[in-house]
Amino acid sequence: MKRFLLIISGLIAFAATVSAQTAAEANRQYILEKMVFYYVDNPATAKPADLSTLEINKVAIGNGEDIASPLWTNANNEGLKSLLIQLLRPASQGGNVNLQRNIRNVLLITDKKVYVYLYNDFANAAKHASWPVYCTTTGYETAHSNASWPCASCFTDRTLEATGHIGLGAFFFNASRTGDWATANDKGAVTIHELVHTQLPLKLEPTLTVSMYGTGGHSFSEMIPSRNSAFNEGIANAFGFRYYFPNNLQMSSWFNNNVQLTVDNLSGCSATSTQPHCLQARLAAAGVATQPTTSTVLKRYNIRDVPANLITYCENTTTNILFMYMSQFRSDLMLVRDVKRAATDMGVASNYTFAPLFKEMVKSGLNYHNPGLRSGLRTHGQHMPLAILDYYTGYKLTNKAALEQVLGVTWDASYPAVDEYFANKRSVLLGFRPNATTWQVRNLDQFAEHINVKTSESTRPSAPAAPGGR
Ligand SMILES: [Zn+2]
Repeated sequence: MKRFLLIISGLIAFAATVSAQTAAEANRQYILEKMVFYYVDNPATAKPADLSTLEINKVAIGNGEDIASPLWTNANNEGLKSLLIQLLRPASQGGNVNLQRNIRNVLLITDKKVYVYLYNDFANAAKHASWPVYCTTTGYETAHSNASWPCASCFTDRTLEATGHIGLGAFFFNASRTGDWATANDKGAVTIHELVHTQLPLKLEPTLTVSMYGTGGHSFSEMIPSRNSAFNEGIANAFGFRYYFPNNLQMSSWFNNNVQLTVDNLSGCSATSTQPHCLQARLAAAGVATQPTTSTVLKRYNIRDVPANLITYCENTTTNILFMYMSQFRSDLMLVRDVKRAATDMGVASNYTFAPLFKEMVKSGLNYHNPGLRSGLRTHGQHMPLAILDYYTGYKLTNKAALEQVLGVTWDASYPAVDEYFANKRSVLLGFRPNATTWQVRNLDQFAEHINVKTSESTRPSAPAAPGGR
């Protein structure tokens, strides 16, 4: 009997390995189909009319071959070369199956092609204006000989074969570079972040012009004038951070340490302005105290003092909410599916573009069944997104009206989950909390177990091992 069980468990392990290999190969093939790479050896010259002369033979790279191109032989490009090997080759030949899986998940949002411009941007005197997504931001390009910071955009014509394009510079990816986002993990997360921008257009609020940021410089702890931009950056971060999450951006520690968020003073906003983007005035009207600062343009606020509806103007809020949603349900594709379903409403500029997505997340939670759950038990996943939003907005969603104020939408009778959360489930979540000034992800885990989104060790079926378990 024991030997029989050993054979069975051996077969299960073998089948799991084969299925993981098959999935990894499918991901790699999908990337080979969807991503088109152009190498630009000298960005100071004009873009040729026929781009095919610049196209890189991705199939040869995927097959483990060397290609005849400075991309492969110039030491400047070693980081870009390494990225292509990680993206296009099987694991046995240097492929990075984790990166491939995350890249494929993002590409599935539109299921369209993406054009990738690979720039040899070392020591350029100038860039020619004809190149797209060669992005120069204040400081980086002046400090590094006109190098291009990674960037991307989504095409407005949605009938094209491609959804957008992304520009990656050799300097940014070079191993010798120091500074922000310089580790191999960082670079993978940044690549995925930019790829998300090819999938989702930014719908700037009608009350704003193109300026998303003020003059004080942008940081993760900044509340920015455009809440839609904060969401757009947040979802890009969330997918990127599923590959690698930098510790200093975990908002649980931000709340525990009561870190300060900054807000720029925008031109056109006065102390009594009521426009949505005039955040300093809105925070003052909400009675939020400013903290000492030497800056003449930025004001600082303790994160725990910021009302729930205003904390969504910080991109790290939606970053953490969407990351935790994927993490608790152990599914990135669930969010991909939600984005696809919410796409039309997310394309309406007058909406807070996170709101239609959040409604889809609640619906997905409702339909979620934990495959590891003992028979006879129900999953109540619809409460999970609400708990996560509550947690990362500072535990200030005390009722349905507060939730509606945060999202700018009403919840009709087709969403009973919202009423149930505030009537019953919120008190359960708060019951796991040791005190009112503590944020522990463990409490969200406990809540997930309470509503059967996750299976705790004590309720896990004894045998066979539950698929999809931790
Ligand atoms: Zn971005």
